[in-house]
Amino acid sequence: MGLGSSAVLGVVNIHPNSTAMAFSVLVIINKKRYAELSMSAESNSLASTSSLTADRFGREIRGLRISVTQRCDLACPHCHREGQAPSSREMSPEEIERLVGVGASLGIRKVKITGGEPLLRDDIVEIVARISPIVSEVSLTTNGSRLSGLAPDLKTAGLKRVNVSLHTLDPKRYMRLCGSDDISEVLAGIRSAISSGMNPVKVNMAVFRGENESEIKPMIKFCGDVGAILQLIEFEADRESSNGSDFTARYFPLKGIEEELARDSVGISVNELHRRKRYILPNGGTPVTVEVVRPMHNTEFCSSCTRIRMSSDGLLKPCLLDRSGEVDVLSPLRNGSSDTELSRLFLKAIGNRRPYWR
Ligand code: SAM
Repeated sequence: MGLGSSAVLGVVNIHPNSTAMAFSVLVIINKKRYAELSMSAESNSLASTSSLTADRFGREIRGLRISVTQRCDLACPHCHREGQAPSSREMSPEEIERLVGVGASLGIRKVKITGGEPLLRDDIVEIVARISPIVSEVSLTTNGSRLSGLAPDLKTAGLKRVNVSLHTLDPKRYMRLCGSDDISEVLAGIRSAISSGMNPVKVNMAVFRGENESEIKPMIKFCGDVGAILQLIEFEADRESSNGSDFTARYFPLKGIEEELARDSVGISVNELHRRKRYILPNGGTPVTVEVVRPMHNTEFCSSCTRIRMSSDGLLKPCLLDRSGEVDVLSPLRNGSSDTELSRLFLKAIGNRRPYWR
């Protein structure tokens, strides 16, 4: 739903008792629902107001990216760890289901499961099965090491699509980038996800200067051959780290690559999340889609960010790169908070959102 079919209900100022801090979010609802609510005496209650919630910058919150564990079976030196501080607390499947339900009551329709490595959780199929009836799309990002055996069950549980991280097709380079030389399992995982009917299957390739930029073309061909979308990801870090020599030595800006893709493409579309562009390349008769994720210093990327995050220890995170404004929802849930109280905490975290690059 775009703003054209929506009405801004108003700015809701909420003063949580616990902090006495004021914040505001915009609650945006479609016109039909607005008419229904106008006739309802309860139109100001949190539970009944929203089919979409927007932050102070007018960004509607449509997605929730949930980390379900910090455990991982790889050791990638570049990993941003989803912007999370170390913690051993993990949410149970029931807790994840409850929090997704609260998010859905505020208009969240898409959930992306991440980690750590989410497939290390023995209950990952149960997690997907619990949340897939609540939202319109559940997807997952994985390093693929355990995907081949799990893909059919995940699909049956309701997983619509999957991103598989694979930055190189060369085992030696994979060892340098990820601390393992076993790409055969990852390749099997990609094929298994496709044959299980997940669609699309995306290959996440983070690009690093002097390491794997020469593999962009072979990776496009590989994705065309297997029937996957290639997602090229720019190496990202917060302002402070991105000024350090570790980052600058490896940072490979994707702007030039994007210009090349635009020249060679036979079609371009735009993903509403972050306004990432998707280029369709002819690829010798087997067209392949390449999506570019280019966050660094990209104000358009941040101004079109429509998702909020949740860490594996149950903190709502307004932004990957900014630790400020996090809101603990798991402790209140464990201490008996009602859904209405949890909704208020979601609204508080949404109210804390601000574009990182602006
Ligand atoms: N283990 C899972 C995986 O490999 O997909 C999920 C977690 S991982 C943090 C999610 C995605 O973020 C992966 O595609 C990974 O390559 C990407 N990523 C991690 N750190 C990054 C960074 N500093 N810059 C860009 N992408 C990064």
